[in-house]
Amino acid sequence: MIEPDSRIENGYLKYAEWCYSPNYDERPSGTQPSLIVIHSISLPPGDFGGVDIRRLFTNQLDVNAHPFYQQLRGLKVSTHFLIDRLGCITQFVSCLNRAWHAGESNWRGEANCNNYSIGIELEGTESDGFEAEQYISLRAICQSLVVSYPIEACVGHSHIALPLGRKQDPGIGFNWSELSAVQNIDLPI
Ligand SMILES: [Zn+2]
Repeated sequence: MIEPDSRIENGYLKYAEWCYSPNYDERPSGTQPSLIVIHSISLPPGDFGGVDIRRLFTNQLDVNAHPFYQQLRGLKVSTHFLIDRLGCITQFVSCLNRAWHAGESNWRGEANCNNYSIGIELEGTESDGFEAEQYISLRAICQSLVVSYPIEACVGHSHIALPLGRKQDPGIGFNWSELSAVQNIDLPI
């Protein structure tokens, strides 16, 4: 059962399943998360329910398992949270640490968004919609984040990635108005 107002303690969300990723480092000294970045991912693209997203974020993906994976060879990436199609939440990196999800990026004049953001991956594609259960879990995480950290805004990867147009996710199927119930954060709508 998700308790939407649960504070995040020591960087960990109580109602998430924990899966350790080695792909993180420390935030710059004194930096707290102030931005939420929404992504979408599916591996292979368009397939849902498998374990390859977890494998990617834990450096265990077999790049020979699918032709698309060749371009992922040697990639070291992560996220703080993943929400699968059923709304189940997995946490890979403590919110106190810097996950590697945004790449080259800029938000309101501040470069390298990984320094000060929380990454949330939704299992999905850049062209299709998302499940109601995913929005429920996403709202819960955002609510937990805003009561725990000085969060100012929530944006898509597409809004911050450089050069502009490098990333399209979460994509046209993501409904930003689903987040309007989260208090006190700016949305790109
Ligand atoms: Zn992304």
